[in-house]
Amino acid sequence: MKHQDRHARDSGGFSCVHCGRFVTHRSYGTRQRNHCPHCLWSRHVDDKVGDRRSACNQPMEPIAVASRGGGEWALVHRCQGCGHLRTNRIAGDDDELALLALALRPISHPAFPIDCLPGRGP
Ligand SMILES: [Zn+2]
Ligand SMILES: [Zn+2]
Repeated sequence: MKHQDRHARDSGGFSCVHCGRFVTHRSYGTRQRNHCPHCLWSRHVDDKVGDRRSACNQPMEPIAVASRGGGEWALVHRCQGCGHLRTNRIAGDDDELALLALALRPISHPAFPIDCLPGRGP
């Protein structure tokens, strides 16, 4: 861990593991921000949400957006160190384009030819 990360966290925020921008803990719609609003990456610092007790401390990549109903979206993060999967509520000021790009990723890289779906054609 870099020293500046620890310093930043003590002063109420953290430096993003991915894009390096400074992120404050305060945000709209969530009490505990755990991911970067710009690139959506997180860090594996919790065993349980908010406890900050994980020894892993590796970057967590945003791999998907999950819909929870009622229009609420959640981010799915996967730890690059241990493979741990976690879902997190999105925050009110998360970058909408970054969220959309993540949600559309499987559509823009389909695993099968979409043109061949049944029901298409004249
Ligand atoms: Zn970031
Ligand atoms: Zn981990």
